[in-house]
Amino acid sequence: MTGKPSLVPLAIPNLLGREADYLQACISSTFVSSVGPFVTRFEDSLARLSGAEATTVVCSGTVALQMALTGLGIGAGDLVMIPSLTFIATANAVSHAGAAPWLVDCDAAGWTMDLDRCRHLIETETEPAPGGRRHRTSGQVLKALMPVMIMGATLDFAATVALAREYGLKVVVDAAAAIGAAGPDDTPLAATGVDAVCYSFNGNKTVTCGGGGAIAGNKGLIDRIRHLCSTARVGRDYDHDEIGYNFRMTNVQAALGVAQLERLDDFLAAKLRIRNAYADFAGGYQSLHPFPEPPTGRSVHWFSGFWYSGPDATLPSRFREHMQSAAIDLRPFWKPIHLQAPYRTALASPMPVVDDLWTRIFPLPCSTHLTDGDLDRVLTAAREFWNVHD
Ligand SMILES: *Cc1c(COP(=O)(O)O)cnc(C)c1O
Repeated sequence: MTGKPSLVPLAIPNLLGREADYLQACISSTFVSSVGPFVTRFEDSLARLSGAEATTVVCSGTVALQMALTGLGIGAGDLVMIPSLTFIATANAVSHAGAAPWLVDCDAAGWTMDLDRCRHLIETETEPAPGGRRHRTSGQVLKALMPVMIMGATLDFAATVALAREYGLKVVVDAAAAIGAAGPDDTPLAATGVDAVCYSFNGNKTVTCGGGGAIAGNKGLIDRIRHLCSTARVGRDYDHDEIGYNFRMTNVQAALGVAQLERLDDFLAAKLRIRNAYADFAGGYQSLHPFPEPPTGRSVHWFSGFWYSGPDATLPSRFREHMQSAAIDLRPFWKPIHLQAPYRTALASPMPVVDDLWTRIFPLPCSTHLTDGDLDRVLTAAREFWNVHD
């Protein structure tokens, strides 16, 4: 025994419901592969939750985004606008679909893709083209906007869809971390006028399948994606009508997902409680602020914490070191896409907001079963630091 306190992790799965029972049912029934009752149940529940005509589940959130683009006919020679402030999977999904990301700065108030900046780029750097807008210097065609519901925050769907329609673009929403979120008046995500909504069920997400993803959209799109993801097989024989993928989710993963969704309301309530604790804490310090939340619609606070607005550029890394030495798992936030090696030469807007912001963001422990004792440990350690440095 070293006497050191155990680490308070950032976000770990809460598997205290019927997960084990449902996994046992997969084994007892031998339905452990890509066909099975839990796959169907999970897809039906997700479609209802999303207000979508249909939903299909896949093996990861990255694949969900990739296949939404492919299903919409977006690929080689095309551009997709994404915010630079996101997890790298958003950009990778665009690349895997054969297209290229066009990186856009965030708006300072909401941390979501700056729509004014998007409009300016479209107006000044593109011209009309079939199915989208041709980028004058590269010749690539902008086909879609892919906004990110950052850490579960909702979006201005009306403005996003209006901008896209004005220029003939599709909208694919990276809702990887936003299960349970909604638009204005509780409009479910897939009923906001967008073309596709994509979720992740990675181990650190609010609802996890261990790994997995889903796409919600209209029936034609989802049927097309389901076909592509299951080897493009037609009929019962080994006939395949195009080059498909094996991107399916297994019944074992879906069993976890079904058990997790049964407790979604509890998970969301726990996330909100944690979010409010960090927001209350931040309220006591001049230079700390909760993560932003759009005024209308419902955000879900997958990650919460606070950010630092003060002048001392050395404080963020010193705060991380302080928390790590108190055995609190505080890591740097996602390094923006335009600073990542594979995307340094990608098309990109100027990035004044993201360049200044990303190091100032502190995502704090937020597992749905975070104990009061652990929350207290986080806040006590943070208080020790900010009482001296605010
Ligand atoms: C988690 C996440 C993804 C990727 O999902 P995976 O299931 O890990 O592939 C994509 N975008 C965002 C914003 C995420 O948070």
